[in-house]
Amino acid sequence: MDVVRRRPTKPAPSDKVVVDRRPSSPKASDALPLPLYLTNGIFFTLFFSVAYFLLHRWRDKIRNSTPLHVLTLSELAAIVCLIASFIYLLGFFGIDFVQSFISKPDADDDPQRFILHEDRNVLCSIPPPSPPKPKIPLNLSDDDDELVDRVVSGEIPSYSLESKLGDCLRAARIRRAAVQHLTGRSLEGLPLEAFDYDSILGQCCEMPVGYVQIPVGIAGPLLLNGCEYSVPMATTEGCLVASTNRGCKAIHASGGATCVLLRDGMTRAPVVRFPSAKRASELKFFIEDPINFETLSVVFNRSSRFARLQSIKSAIAGKNLYLRFTCSTGDAMGMNMVSKGVQNVLEFLQNDFPDMDVIGISGNYCSDKKPAAVNWIEGRGKSVVCEATISGDVVSKVLKTTVSGLVELNMLKNLTGSAMAGALGGFNAHAANIVSAIFIATGQDPAQNIESSHCITMMEAVNDGKDIHISVTMPSIEVGTVGGGTQLASQSACLNLLGVKGANKESPGANAQLLGLVVAGAVLAGELSLMSAISAGQLVKSHMKYNRSQKNFAKN
Ligand code: ADP
Repeated sequence: MDVVRRRPTKPAPSDKVVVDRRPSSPKASDALPLPLYLTNGIFFTLFFSVAYFLLHRWRDKIRNSTPLHVLTLSELAAIVCLIASFIYLLGFFGIDFVQSFISKPDADDDPQRFILHEDRNVLCSIPPPSPPKPKIPLNLSDDDDELVDRVVSGEIPSYSLESKLGDCLRAARIRRAAVQHLTGRSLEGLPLEAFDYDSILGQCCEMPVGYVQIPVGIAGPLLLNGCEYSVPMATTEGCLVASTNRGCKAIHASGGATCVLLRDGMTRAPVVRFPSAKRASELKFFIEDPINFETLSVVFNRSSRFARLQSIKSAIAGKNLYLRFTCSTGDAMGMNMVSKGVQNVLEFLQNDFPDMDVIGISGNYCSDKKPAAVNWIEGRGKSVVCEATISGDVVSKVLKTTVSGLVELNMLKNLTGSAMAGALGGFNAHAANIVSAIFIATGQDPAQNIESSHCITMMEAVNDGKDIHISVTMPSIEVGTVGGGTQLASQSACLNLLGVKGANKESPGANAQLLGLVVAGAVLAGELSLMSAISAGQLVKSHMKYNRSQKNFAKN
């Protein structure tokens, strides 16, 4: 049953819906009207009781010297029951396991399953040249030169170079030459060599022609929960690393920061449509029943050994139902994992709700890579709060400002100013700066900086106004230490520096959670330093110093 395909009897309003159109293998359990746990219980009991019965009969026959092949009616019935229950249990528990050995990777493992093939072809083919541009001289062999001509003429699609040549670097070189020829513009300055193009094939970037270099600076040590971290930040914004580093210094000199993980769960929210609002509400109530939720959890968790369903929050808009699934995903950021689980559940629900029309696996109620109140309020990824008390001495000596000046600025800028601007999760000075720089350095999805930068910065004078308590509360930091760009050499080196590279074997999920805490700790440092600079009136001066070096002035 293909749950994500539009029902064939109805017209599809949009062919661009992001869907998996491959049929999934039916399970024996699909045919039964009973809840999953009851069906499993019945077949387990049947299997073991008839097996016991048959063994007993067998023993009696051996004792009485009766031939084993002479069967009574009850024995025949028992054998039929044994075979039937065995087939059911194998279908339910065994097929996926066996298939994982004998077949190609599962459709759900294919990261391109959400891309329509038509779109891919459109995106990947280079249009024929018009008008012809002068050829930029490149030092290519005759063979490669000929291949460039064939790509330029459209005879060889650019996207097929890797599979055709079996050499990713050579494919990138030829594609790069073809692009330069087609556009008549040089890519000199964009490096090509010294990059492992095999490592990005099929998972990080299609049709590469080189790579962009972004410098990585280190802020720290950041003293967080009693441990020191050197925080890698990839950025081209002068001042950013220096400023975060100054914040780290102030935190360190004041005894460190404390960070607490409040919640950890990735979300995905499909949208489904019913013939009536009443039917949509029936599914909502069905899901809210704890017994049904338990059954759905079993189905969901089969997607991965790390996926554990935590909750399903539903919202209705007329006949349409949005189901926001939240689950833990171990050390993965988890978008693929949660999507697989959701797909399993939708397939399962189609048995009881055959009139459910799955419009899309993502209905934007998730909400991924868009500013949305649901993330700000409910959280997504790691929800973290981080705090520190900075002594008045450090405020004046390191941050060059005053406690009262900082508290007043925070009230009028981060709280009142953001409220005046109608901010959504933007009650901070520049959380996105630190989040993005760490995301790029550690191979996170930079587009998720949108919700990951949601942050409210609070400042309060404490100890009779001598010291300042500062906190950042960040409900949706979306990070992982496995999957995506985290496995690339440079990014995994930065994760290694933080001690969170790859999967945590002892406690799956601990690495990604620690990375979330470090992000919040670094944001705390960044907030402290930038707010101090603004409070002391130093912002423009320091940017002039770090962003406009003498070299730049000389050029101007
Ligand atoms: P994402 O959902 O973030 O895109 P994927 O689900 O594609 O990530 O990648 C995670 C992969 O890593 C899965 O195949 C999972 O089985 C594997 N994995 C290995 N160890 C872990 C771990 N500790 N936590 C999460 N996933 C892990």
